[in-house]
Formats: sequence, structure tokens, C-alpha cells
Amino acid sequence: MISHSEYILLSIKSSFFDYISSQARPYSRHAAEYAVSCLQSYLSAEYVSFFKRKEDQYLLIAASSHSYHTVPFRQKRSLIERTESRVDLMLSEGFLLSVTEKEHVFDEDFYRLLIKECSLFLAHFQRLQKKTDMEKNYQELYALTKRLHATMNKDEVLNQFIFSLQKLFPDYLFYLFLSHDSDSRHKLPVKEFDYEGTGSASAMEAYLTGEIKWDAPESANQVILYAPLKGNQGIYGVVEVTQQNRSELDEDETMMTASLAEAAGHAYENAKLYEQSKKLVSDLQLINETSHKLNKNLRLIDTMTYMSDRIIRSFSADETGFFYTSSEGGTRMLPGSTSFFQTEGADFYLRLAENRVRQELEGVFIGDLKVKDAAFSSLIAIPMVQRDELKGFAVILHRNPYAFTFEMFKLMQSLIHHSTLALMNSMLREELELLVITDHLTKLYSRNYLDDSVQHSLKTDSQGVFILMDIDDFKTVNDTHGHQTGDDILIQVAGIIMNSITKSDVGARWGGEELAVYLPQADPRYGIELANRIVDSVQNETFPSVTISCGVAHWTAEEPESLKRMIRRADQALYKAKENGKNCAVFYEESEVMHETS
Ligand code: GH3
Ligand code: MG
Ligand code: MG
Repeated sequence: MISHSEYILLSIKSSFFDYISSQARPYSRHAAEYAVSCLQSYLSAEYVSFFKRKEDQYLLIAASSHSYHTVPFRQKRSLIERTESRVDLMLSEGFLLSVTEKEHVFDEDFYRLLIKECSLFLAHFQRLQKKTDMEKNYQELYALTKRLHATMNKDEVLNQFIFSLQKLFPDYLFYLFLSHDSDSRHKLPVKEFDYEGTGSASAMEAYLTGEIKWDAPESANQVILYAPLKGNQGIYGVVEVTQQNRSELDEDETMMTASLAEAAGHAYENAKLYEQSKKLVSDLQLINETSHKLNKNLRLIDTMTYMSDRIIRSFSADETGFFYTSSEGGTRMLPGSTSFFQTEGADFYLRLAENRVRQELEGVFIGDLKVKDAAFSSLIAIPMVQRDELKGFAVILHRNPYAFTFEMFKLMQSLIHHSTLALMNSMLREELELLVITDHLTKLYSRNYLDDSVQHSLKTDSQGVFILMDIDDFKTVNDTHGHQTGDDILIQVAGIIMNSITKSDVGARWGGEELAVYLPQADPRYGIELANRIVDSVQNETFPSVTISCGVAHWTAEEPESLKRMIRRADQALYKAKENGKNCAVFYEESEVMHETS
């Protein structure tokens, strides 16, 4: 035969048991509410409520009626405390059960047993809830891993990671410490590693050891956990998790945070490797395409413009310059350089680059120039070296400090190394070409070049003027003043010609003291006028003064013309000019008589 109290206890116990076995998704507030209503009915109590201790007071978590109250926490409370009809029972884990009796029926022994049953229920229930929480955690870990596998973007990996943490642990505070080379900052709560070791020594330790670290500063009543973002090849950062109102870590939560951090670390590593491989491919493409272009024997200006474009695009450089350093010591700017290098402002950077590449044949890499008022802070200069000899150098500049990375420097190095030979060859070729088409003494074009130009014009233009010139009594000049002065006069006359004609006209040395000018698209009037002008200038501007005679011939598309015939006509006109007393120009006319033009 069991007593009434024993019967009540058994009934409560079995209700609790039923409840626990029926709960698929336990939820603590709901359990407390169930317990309250169950106890009120079995104990026939006036009022039943559950509290949970938080800091120095008890907070109500469930009550049989709506009146809300908190019980101030007093130290050294005994297990059972009776105040008139109200009995406060201390349960395990900081729970408190308060029963207000209708009539006094239960003794201390009963309440002692009730404490045991309720504590068991709560403990059991908490275990169950923990399991469910863990299940939720693993589901989130699985979901995160899936999301991480779907992205190849470093920022997105970190975003997803923080998002998952915030979802699992909404009450905690998260920060990321990222290593210096990381560039993904903006949206995320990111802190810098403090390499001096003040403040976040534990974060640094977690980063260096790859192990979980934690701090529990006594003054702050919080626990701070540091979990490394670890991959196979390295550690990419540390997540800081701050848990308020705690003095120690929860083992399960710690494990979960560590697992999430590791998943994020691996995904971050993959994304980083993917980015690197993409960069590598584009770097190789750059070198490959440039080499290809250079080997196509384009004009120097085309090649250099192409190189300059590619460099500005690939390096996001503000200015790009290429320079040729001749063995005599002069520096010449090559085509393709940005216009900044023609300004005085460039002198400082050029001198710096040139002095340094003369000493450091590997190249110069400056992250921050630290020069007051300097327009540019980042500089890369790579020498062009051929057979151990400095041939020139390339410079790129950026306004911001640390705008170029070390990888960019290495890429620029290999780009210039691959290009130097082809570049020098094409420079050499163009210099040779220039040599072939230029008369050494007068710097006018050679006769060959003049011939080619006239032939080309005869095919493509509608008219043109050919002027043949001969210095008068040049033999006498040589005899009187010497050959050297004769040469000098030739140079003076050539200078007058060059100053009198336009860029599209061709001034040439015809041979000996004979010179020629071809004016594509010119009409006869213009040709005669120019010839006369040159005749006048030569007489007035040469020293010792000489005169010249000119023969002028014109052609139009209406009458087919050959180079040979035109030369003959100009020659005949020149002969006429000499006959007429020299120091004049004569225009060739088809009729027997030719006219002196002035
Ligand atoms: P004309 O008025 O009839 O042209 O008389 P000229 O003395 O100029 O005629 P000629 O053709 O008899 O003499 C040309 C001279 O020009 C002969 C040669 O010594 C001189 N000469 C030709 N080429 C050069 C040169 O490159 N330098 C120098 N100093 N003299 C040259
Ligand atoms: Mg002559
Ligand atoms: Mg002569």
C-alpha cells in the first residue's frame, strides 16, 4: 500500500517520463511550462513557478498564472525555504521551483523527493536539448560546407562562414583576424593582426600554432575563443568569438566553432589557389602574347605601344616609360612611353630609376618612395640587359604606395627579360634603315629614298613637283675656302632646304653639290614659289655666301609620267638656269623656250 504522497510523486514522475519520451524537438521553455501545469494539478497548489538564476537574481521562466515576479538572489539559501504558504525549492543547475500551497499537506521529506524528481527531469531534458542542438549544429556545418564548395571566391567564403556562426550562436560576437596579404575586408568584421603582440596575443598564438586558444579575462566576465582558419598549406586567419556572461567554454560549442573554422579555412585555401592559378594563366598569356607580337617584326612604335598598353592594363600602372641608354651615356625615351615622361616632373623618377638599375641589374621595387610632395609612391624599374650590358630600362609608376605586389615585380621582370632581345633588334633594324635612307653629310634623305618616294607618288597622287638644285661655282668655293668650308656650306644649304619644306615633302642629296626636293601633290605655282624662296634664302643666309640654281618640273595624272622623264626635264630646266646666269630657278615648259621664273 503506498501513501498519498508516494502516489503523487509517482504520478508526477510518470508524467515527466511521458513528456520526455513524446518530445521529438525539445524546447526548454515549453518543458518548464509543462512541468508547472503538471505540478499545480498534482500538488493541488495555488500557484507554481519556475525560475532560473542569472547573475544575482532569479528570472521567471514559467508560471501557472501571469503575475510576473523575480526573486532576489540571496547567498546560502537552504534547499527548502518556507515563507507562510510559499515553499521555494532549490533544484540543480540554478533552477528554482516555487510552490504556493492551498493548504499545508506536504512535509519536508516529500519536498526533498520532489526536488530530486524535478532536477532529474530538468537534467534529462537539458541533455535531450543539447543533443538536438548538436544535431542542428551538424546540419549547419553540413549546409555551410555545401555552400563553401559552391564558391571559388575568398570574400564569399568568409561571408558564409560568419553568416553560419551568427546563425548558430546569435548571442556571441565575431571578429576575423586576417593575414596581411589578404585583400578581402569591406563587409566583414575584420581586425588586423597586432604583430607587436599587445591585445590579441592569443589570436596571434592561434594563428601561429593552428590550435584553438582562449582568454577569460576575470574583470570582463566573458570568454573569448580564437579558432584558426586552417587549410592544408597554411593558416589564413583566426576567428574571435566573444561570449558574454560566461567564465568557461562550452566544449560542444568550441568543437563546432573549430570545425566551422576549419571548413572555412579549406574553402578559403581552395579559392585562393584558384585565384592564383587564374592569375598565373593570365600572366603567362601576357608574356606569350607580347613575345609573339615582338617576333612579328612590327615597327618599334607599334610594338612599344602594344607593350605599354598591356602593362598599363595588367599592372594598373599610372605611368609607363621605356628608355634606351646609349653607350655614350645619353638616355633616349622610346615610343610607347606615356606623355608624363616628357615632362620635367619625370626627371626625378628617371634619375632614380637609372641610377638604381645601373647598380641592381635584377631591377628595383619600391613600395613607398616616401619623398615629400612626390606625385608617385610606387615604382618598379627593370633594366634591359643584353650580353651583360645595360641597354635601357622600363619604369612603371603608381600614385598610391604599395600599389604593386612582389608578384607584379616578378612578372614585369620576366616580361622585360623576354622582350629585350627583340626590342633591341627592332631598334637596331630601324636605325640601320634610317642610316640607309639618310645622307651622312647633310642629313637629307638619300637619292634612293627620294627615288622610291617619287615612284610611290607617281602611282598614288594626282600631281607633284620635282626641283633639282646645283650650287653655283662650287669648284671656286672649294678652291678659295677649302674643302672643309665647302662641306660646311653644303650642310648650310641642306639646313635651309629642310626648314623650307614640310614633313610630307622629301629633301635629298642628289649627289656631289647637287640637291633635290620632291613635293607630292604640289601644283606648279607652289613649286616655283618654293624654289625661288630657297634660291633667295641661300644667297642671304649662307656664309661664306653662295648661290644656287634650280630646275623645276611638274607632273599631273592627265599625262602619264615616268621618274626618268621628270628628272630629265628638271635637269634641262637647271641647265637653262645656269645658262641664264645662275642664282635663279627655271620652270620646265613643253614649248621650246623655257621661262626663268623670277
Ligand atoms: P657650276 O656653277 O657650273 O655648277 O660650277 P661648279 O664649280 O659648281 O661646277 P662643277 O660641277 O664643275 O664642280 C662641282 C664641284 O663641287 C666639284 C667638286 O669638287 C665639288 N664637290 C662635289 N661634292 C662635294 C662635296 O661633298 N664637298 C665639297 N667640299 N665639294 C664637293
Ligand atoms: Mg654640279
Ligand atoms: Mg655647281
